[in-house]
Amino acid sequence: MAVRVGAALLVLTAGVALAFYAIRPGGASLACYLADRDPPEVRIQAPAGPVRARVTVALGISDNCGVGEVRVFLDGQPLNGAPPQLEIDTAKLPDGDHRLTVEAADVSLRRNTGRAEAIFKTDNTPPALTVPANPVAIKQGEARPVEITSNEALSRLEFRWGDVTVPVTAGLSTLAFPVAAGPTDPPGVRRLEVTAWDQAGNEARLVVEVRIQPGTFPVDYVPVPPELTPLLDPEVLVQEERYLAGVFGQVTWPPRWTGGFRRPVTGPISSAFGSRRSYAGGVLSAPHLGVDLAVPAGTPVIAAADGRVALAEGLRVRGNAVVIDHGLGVYTAYYHLSQIRVQPGQEVRAGDLLGLAGSTGLATGPHLHWELRVFGVPADPLGWVGAGH
Ligand SMILES: [Zn+2]
Repeated sequence: MAVRVGAALLVLTAGVALAFYAIRPGGASLACYLADRDPPEVRIQAPAGPVRARVTVALGISDNCGVGEVRVFLDGQPLNGAPPQLEIDTAKLPDGDHRLTVEAADVSLRRNTGRAEAIFKTDNTPPALTVPANPVAIKQGEARPVEITSNEALSRLEFRWGDVTVPVTAGLSTLAFPVAAGPTDPPGVRRLEVTAWDQAGNEARLVVEVRIQPGTFPVDYVPVPPELTPLLDPEVLVQEERYLAGVFGQVTWPPRWTGGFRRPVTGPISSAFGSRRSYAGGVLSAPHLGVDLAVPAGTPVIAAADGRVALAEGLRVRGNAVVIDHGLGVYTAYYHLSQIRVQPGQEVRAGDLLGLAGSTGLATGPHLHWELRVFGVPADPLGWVGAGH
């Protein structure tokens, strides 16, 4: 008898279990189905920064008994989506903060429900770029920063100016981009093309017209002692210029020249920027690419602005030379020094001693030849002395 009752109970239990397994929701075990009180764990991997266009949001939903119905809401409205990946077209949303809510029920009898919320920011509006003046007018031999301002923080900028393309990756909303016209650059209109991307990746473009106007440059007649004439060998000049062009052609970040230059020595101008020279009564040379400041030998020469020493060595034509990289394509150079007091790679601040003035290289007397280069283009450095440019 006892055996029969036992067998009947076994059959009954097995029958209930089979019946449950036949109808079990989501594969939950019987114990889970009846006793579970733990809601599913819900995680939302929302985009960190502002986003634009279509974005994918990953959801992580897990439960010990099994996940049942999942409901997604965007700003309180139901959102159709198939976890674990949600596709959201943010172009249809107003710019700003949005709330994503995910509710997930498990498959137990109680339908325990877990939820998570995430806020993310959308931006589908390109930045608005402005400049104080457009067109910008500069003269031959002049350099000028063109200040680009954005109405929102940018993630990236790209400048195209002649042959130069300068990418800038920095979270900023204003940047002064330096443009220069060399003394022999033809007058006319050139274009500075600016492309900018905001934090979400929206793109904006701006074209600044730069009108180059003729400059006026004097002619100097320079006597050259016979022992220096080998330095005028065009081959020597070309080699040295090519070597320096390699130095001036490096564009580094960040710019450190804002706020104007300090004059490296206080001596008077003995040869102006852009002047054309007749060496030893010969034909007119190419324009003078710096300014000569007459000072006694041994006069301390200081850095015009903060920067890094890009070159500090003796050259045949320029003598003992120091070149400072001020960032974003701006360099100053100091030639004919009697002594160099800095090392390549050294960081300098405006006013730091670079060396002593002298007459090494192709120089007829002690003076400082001071140069400004902007993306390799020579301009008058005196134009950047003082608070403004
Ligand atoms: Zn000079």
